[in-house]
Amino acid sequence: MKAIRVHTFGGPEVLQLDEVPDPRPAPGQIVVRVRAAGVNPVDTYLRSGAYTKLPPLPYTPGSDAAGLVEALGEGVRRLKTGDRVYTAGSAGDGILGTYAELTVCTVAQVYPLPANVSFSQGAAVNVPYATAYRGLHDKAHARPGETVLVHGASGGVGLAAVQLAAAHGMTVIGTAGSERGRKLVREQGAHHVLDHTAPDHLAKLAELTDGRGPDVIMEMLANVNLAKDLDAIARYGRIVVIGNRGAIEINPRGTMTKDVAIVGLSLFNASLEERASIHAALGAGLANGTLRPVVGQEVPLKDAPRAHEAVLKPGAYGKIVLIP
Ligand code: NAP
Repeated sequence: MKAIRVHTFGGPEVLQLDEVPDPRPAPGQIVVRVRAAGVNPVDTYLRSGAYTKLPPLPYTPGSDAAGLVEALGEGVRRLKTGDRVYTAGSAGDGILGTYAELTVCTVAQVYPLPANVSFSQGAAVNVPYATAYRGLHDKAHARPGETVLVHGASGGVGLAAVQLAAAHGMTVIGTAGSERGRKLVREQGAHHVLDHTAPDHLAKLAELTDGRGPDVIMEMLANVNLAKDLDAIARYGRIVVIGNRGAIEINPRGTMTKDVAIVGLSLFNASLEERASIHAALGAGLANGTLRPVVGQEVPLKDAPRAHEAVLKPGAYGKIVLIP
């Protein structure tokens, strides 16, 4: 089969299309024929070698995919060949990830893909939606009736957060850096949209919330926004740090005066029980149409380097997926 492999950490050009042996499932494992694989920013950090825990070389990137069950290892009863599924990680510490024609998962890494969700949409579920769900519900404990600012709403995690928060009866304010992105964020359920590149966007946020500020901020670029988030947020607010690409200076007094909590999260820290619960919720939302992953670009597998360049560029518009 064909698989993208990284033989040495570096720029997008190290993503190489190789011919490798077809994988076979060990007991308790499932081989999935990948119809679409999701590209997440973390895939680029790993590829560049700038991440705390790195896979051994060579490895195939990707944790997210959707496709059909190809083969079952001994003892797997929950699924049968031909089932539509989406994946949340791959077996063997990500050595054979999802940027490939076939991938191998444990039973706990495979979830049913409802018939109304396309394979490309299925490849956009795991990291974006599980992160948004864990941030909104498990970390911020956001409640219906509260106001949520999704600071960076036009990308994978942001749109998932917009859909989840709107479905739970929260007032959603989403930001995007492009006109096209803001239109999309509004279409996906945000009640108000703002431009995070406009210097006055937090003044407009204050106007929209009658001077109170949002109760929850889902923050996609903390190194740029965290200090100002502390000024903007409401009393008893919760800021969830999801994305961060550098250092920032904040005045901790901002947390005291308003009883604000800054909570970080890494999806990698979610326990197996948490993951099972999150995917049960996501499965229900996908099946009833509440959650509708937005795919902005489908890129052929061999052009993975182009996808890695695109995912870090401004002007996000949903997910980028690779098609084997
Ligand atoms: P993505 O699809 O590339 O989207 C990036 C988002 O950041 C876009 O909405 C972009 O908006 C926005 N952005 C750009 N400049 C911003 C600014 N100044 N203020 C606020 N937002 C800004 O990436 P993603 O998959 O949604 O992930 C978002 C971030 O979360 C990434 O840094 C990713 O590494 C991180 N992440 C963390 C976890 C975790 O476990 N902690 C899990 C998943 C993702 P425009 O392009 O419209 O400007």
